[in-house]
Amino acid sequence: MESLRDAGLVQQLNVGEDCFRYDAFTAPHPHIKCQCCKQVFDLDVDVVKDLAKQAGSHSAFLITGAQVYLYGVCPDCQKASQES
Ligand SMILES: [Zn+2]
Repeated sequence: MESLRDAGLVQQLNVGEDCFRYDAFTAPHPHIKCQCCKQVFDLDVDVVKDLAKQAGSHSAFLITGAQVYLYGVCPDCQKASQES
């Protein structure tokens, strides 16, 4: 996995403090983390680029990257909580 990351083919994501995962989809996109099963899902919505652009125009920063995380309960966990 290290060599893939070095080649820029995967993006290393830091979810929380010490949980790393790899994502083959390197375009900026939001992630949703399930608070029950801790799974992280990709969300194919092009808001991160706009967010970075807006952040850049509202601050003096040169924005070099952005990560957006949403938190919730995935469909499987919703189903599981309804069944129990
Ligand atoms: Zn879940």
